[in-house]
Amino acid sequence: MLPDGFTWVAAGLLGATIGSFLNVCIVRLPADQSLIRPRSRCPKCETPVAWFDNIPVVSWFALRGRCRQCRQPISPQYPIVEALVSALWVGALWRHGFGLDALTAALFGTILFGIAVTDARHYLIPDEYTLGGLVLGLGLAWRHGVRGFGAAILGAAVGFALLYVVAWAGEKAFKKEAMGGGDIKMMAMVGAFVGWKGVLLTVFGGALLGSLVYVPLSLKKKRLVLFGVFLAAAAALAFELGDPIVRWYLGFLQ
Ligand SMILES: [Zn+2]
Repeated sequence: MLPDGFTWVAAGLLGATIGSFLNVCIVRLPADQSLIRPRSRCPKCETPVAWFDNIPVVSWFALRGRCRQCRQPISPQYPIVEALVSALWVGALWRHGFGLDALTAALFGTILFGIAVTDARHYLIPDEYTLGGLVLGLGLAWRHGVRGFGAAILGAAVGFALLYVVAWAGEKAFKKEAMGGGDIKMMAMVGAFVGWKGVLLTVFGGALLGSLVYVPLSLKKKRLVLFGVFLAAAAALAFELGDPIVRWYLGFLQ
């Protein structure tokens, strides 16, 4: 079904609202704070933000990036995340058409985006994204019936097992923790959305992206590897383009 004008606008507004909530997750989850209470407040003067100053994207520009009370700057991260998630939800509608496939793509993309930002800022991947996303992925897999659900369970198991083995081998090889538990739980979640072939593609793609970025960087100085960021990018590619890539690859073997 081709979306009409109203559906496009609704997807954009819903995406911006979800993006606003993702901002709250990005700030509060690493600090183990509640997502619901207290209400949004200025981090500098702690004045609660009125509803009309809390409209995604629009309010930041209306306030010219400053708190209404204390006039201290508000991070541009807020409107940027809101605009990007809004674009992501419109993009999911464009690619999949109106329906559960678009909703699944939009939710999966939003979770991956939250993981990437949080991993980049804090070097950790909160359980709310991974375990919450795993439950969501298994639930949404029912849109393809029992077979879809079975494929999601298998994908989650392969994702968990593969990263568990990689983490164990890395620890043996480097005599220190090479990969966090967050990465392992993340790949169980990713597996529920992309299936076992998608898991292989994601881990391969994540390692490839990681080495492309880190080999030039590590020549200069040592850095913590943000594997979650690269896994998130590769997982999004595996979700959208996994089937054509696997078919293209298998074409060589015939
Ligand atoms: Zn303030």
